[in-house]
Amino acid sequence: MKKGIVIGSGIGGLAAAIRLALKGYEVEVYESNPYPGGKLSEIRDNGFRFDAGPSLFTMPELVDELFLISGRDPKEFFNYERLNEVCRYFYEDGTRLNVPADPEQFAIEAEKATGIDAKKVRQHLKRSAYIYDTTAFLFLRSSLHRFQTYLSFKTLLSFLQLPLLPIFSSMNSVNRKHLGNKKMVQLFNRYATYNGSNPFRAPGILNIIPHLEFNKGAYFPKEGMHSITLALFQLAKDLGVRFFFDSPVDEILVSRKKVTGVSVRGVEKKAQLVICNMDISFAYPRLLPKIKPPIKTLKLERSSSAIIFYWGIRGKFEELGLHNILFSDDYRTEFSYLFDKKDVYEDPTVYINITSKLNPKDAPEGRENWFVMINAPYMEGQDWDNIIRRSRQFIVEKLNKSLGKNIEELIEFEQVLEPRTIESKTKSFKGALYGTSSNNRMAAFFRHPNFSRRIRDLYFVGGSVHPGGGIPLALSSAKIVDGLIPKA
Ligand SMILES: Cc1cc2nc3c(=O)[nH]c(=O)nc-3n(C[C@H](O)[C@H](O)[C@H](O)COP(=O)(O)OP(=O)(O)OC[C@H]3O[C@@H](n4cnc5c(N)ncnc54)[C@H](O)[C@@H]3O)c2cc1C
Repeated sequence: MKKGIVIGSGIGGLAAAIRLALKGYEVEVYESNPYPGGKLSEIRDNGFRFDAGPSLFTMPELVDELFLISGRDPKEFFNYERLNEVCRYFYEDGTRLNVPADPEQFAIEAEKATGIDAKKVRQHLKRSAYIYDTTAFLFLRSSLHRFQTYLSFKTLLSFLQLPLLPIFSSMNSVNRKHLGNKKMVQLFNRYATYNGSNPFRAPGILNIIPHLEFNKGAYFPKEGMHSITLALFQLAKDLGVRFFFDSPVDEILVSRKKVTGVSVRGVEKKAQLVICNMDISFAYPRLLPKIKPPIKTLKLERSSSAIIFYWGIRGKFEELGLHNILFSDDYRTEFSYLFDKKDVYEDPTVYINITSKLNPKDAPEGRENWFVMINAPYMEGQDWDNIIRRSRQFIVEKLNKSLGKNIEELIEFEQVLEPRTIESKTKSFKGALYGTSSNNRMAAFFRHPNFSRRIRDLYFVGGSVHPGGGIPLALSSAKIVDGLIPKA
């Protein structure tokens, strides 16, 4: 039986291991951490449960698909529901907008809260759907780096439509042109942060993202985001995948330009095929030191990072929902701090996720589990202790003002995740959440392919390679690799 090794058990690694096992390979996964899931992990302490990383779940069909191709009923492993409300927005001038998931209702509520003509919102969501329909096959489901991709009729169609899509203007200028309402422009600009990009630089084609949330839907896994990891981990084990934790891979072994296995703490593990889920910017220097690295790819600007405070809060806040955004009054300056000054702005946009709103088991009686996050720059020699201290102060002041309570007095549990620990816990270069940013309009083409051009039988999955960061794209990377690998 042919053996395949997967390096890392992030969501991309888990999906790749499942697909490899279904292809008839004997599969081993080596993971540095003592647990699976990478960024998709959880914190349990003092009666509170927090999803440590992702909080927004879109395109659940990509998770379901892994069960269906394994001949299992996804519902036996993993349950989720579609959200009726996507997010609650709080603007600095006191405007509040609770956004319903239904696009028509959203347009009406947006008109009431911000004065925009509802028709403009409807049209904008239609444009977003159009971008998805014309480009998803090319950018999300195919390998952009294989000649065969360009021979397909669907790809050709996507290419012909590209000039009609907003690739030359920034997301902000496209949103300004079509919406012309400051508050709604800010709301739609925010979608650039879903892959760690800057809306003032990223191309307007990123307006594909709202389509996923509104038209395709935002979901809530009933037992939290971490249940995605647990379900896929269980499925992989059921399919015979063997996991080795606390087992960092220190080299990918290569002979005559063909992969021969990996070295784990200096011990050789032979395999016919290797799939690497480690961030590509660390994988080349650390695991492939003798191979010439793809300099251009490794020089791409990293995505933003984040500072997250996991707060156990005494009390309940009716005005907050599952997803909440407290906007900065000056988004342009905030992004200039993040991507130019590489610092945190004094009036940051604050995101609060509270899963105990939908799953009361996540917090003790009379309490809420707040995942409080602000965007942060990727690491570049900053004084992080100072930045974190300042950020905490900015956040507390902003929440006190918006919610009219002394938040500090209500925090009875606290843990922090920040760029340095994101990097050390998941080997994410510079603490970036999503690999490389999309600030460059050619970013999609420059991302690393899902296979090695120099070494046979070496493949790559996860947020740092094509098609990019985020759960749906990391799952898509495993699907693309599946299409490139022959049966065992
Ligand atoms: C705070 C935060 C919020 C986010 N919010 C969202 C969100 O709301 N929605 C969304 O879709 N996405 C979100 N993301 C992004 C999403 O989490 C990632 O894009 C996705 O989980 C990346 O998966 P991955 O497969 O690249 O693996 P990672 O999660 O990066 O895991 C890689 C794994 O490989 C292991 N590894 C690395 N090197 C080695 C080695 N040499 N040997 C053995 N093991 C190794 C690591 O220990 C790790 O377990 C968020 C991320 C963070 C951190």
